[in-house]
Amino acid sequence: MKEVIVTGPHKAEVRDVPMPKIENKHDVLIKMQSAGVCGSDHHIYHGTNPCSTYPRIPGHENAGIVTAVGSAVTTVKKGDHVIVDLIMTCGECYQCKIGRKNVCESVRVRGSGADGGWREYFTAPETEVYKINDKVPWKDAALTEPFAIGAHCTNRGRVTADDVVFILGTGTIGSIILQTCKAKGCKTVICCDVSDSSLERAKKYGADYVINSKRENLLERIQTITKGRGVTIAFDSACFKGSLTLVMQPGIVCNAGRIVPMGFVTEPESITQAMINQREIDIIGSRMSCCQFEPTIKHIENGDFDLEGIATNFIKFSNIQEVFYHMEHPDPSVKKMVILFDE
Ligand SMILES: [Zn+2]
Ligand SMILES: [Zn+2]
Repeated sequence: MKEVIVTGPHKAEVRDVPMPKIENKHDVLIKMQSAGVCGSDHHIYHGTNPCSTYPRIPGHENAGIVTAVGSAVTTVKKGDHVIVDLIMTCGECYQCKIGRKNVCESVRVRGSGADGGWREYFTAPETEVYKINDKVPWKDAALTEPFAIGAHCTNRGRVTADDVVFILGTGTIGSIILQTCKAKGCKTVICCDVSDSSLERAKKYGADYVINSKRENLLERIQTITKGRGVTIAFDSACFKGSLTLVMQPGIVCNAGRIVPMGFVTEPESITQAMINQREIDIIGSRMSCCQFEPTIKHIENGDFDLEGIATNFIKFSNIQEVFYHMEHPDPSVKKMVILFDE
């Protein structure tokens, strides 16, 4: 079988390797069908992902078919369509015990700290695969993981229908947070980006107000829309140096408001204790997702989300070089790629 391996920054190759065998009676063998390409995969390729080591098989947004099961497997069978969780945890530590396994003290992540799904077959324990209805097209099934992030960060942010939401950045994750907030009944969701095409897409996904911060004054628009109150919760899915400080400025989030930064920007920002405490702001961390695959799969099966346009480019596994080409030559119209495995 073939696997894609990133051996170092800007170095990727396709290798022929033996088929994996089921070595643990609780494992299943998965034949990959589709895999999303995420921002973190771009960072692995460019050598800027602090959570990744080399050589590494990328891929944490994995969907496939079970082709064999170990003798003790009971929850899935040969032929089932499945989504594979990205996190592997110890199950023993404080975080695992309080239901925060995504930040397990020894968490390993498929596709960054451990090998992922950009290969034709791999094995995983049955507890880390979730069945998905075989009516869901593979190109959509690959979007389960990013939608699980939307479910997780909106839970972490305690989003309810009464919230007035601000989303900075309407790329893949911003669009997904938008759809998740609308699915939770939020009546006012304000989206900001510097790309008109992204903002058009956000309108299609239900954004009530869009702001192009290249042309408009963000603070003034938010003040006008919220009648001077500010939003109750802000998600920073733009994640550039200074974006958290931008969202922290008085007038964006109301007193007692919440801010959820989504990224891993490593440059320091100028945030003071007073900025947090004068208005008693909650800054809430959110990493990947925890226990959100199964509910997200239900939503996708029910057609609760508008998946059209979330992925913009579908690339055959046999053309994987095209994925790396797009990583080397960023094009704003390529918002998200999904790899489709050859039959
Ligand atoms: Zn991802
Ligand atoms: Zn643990």
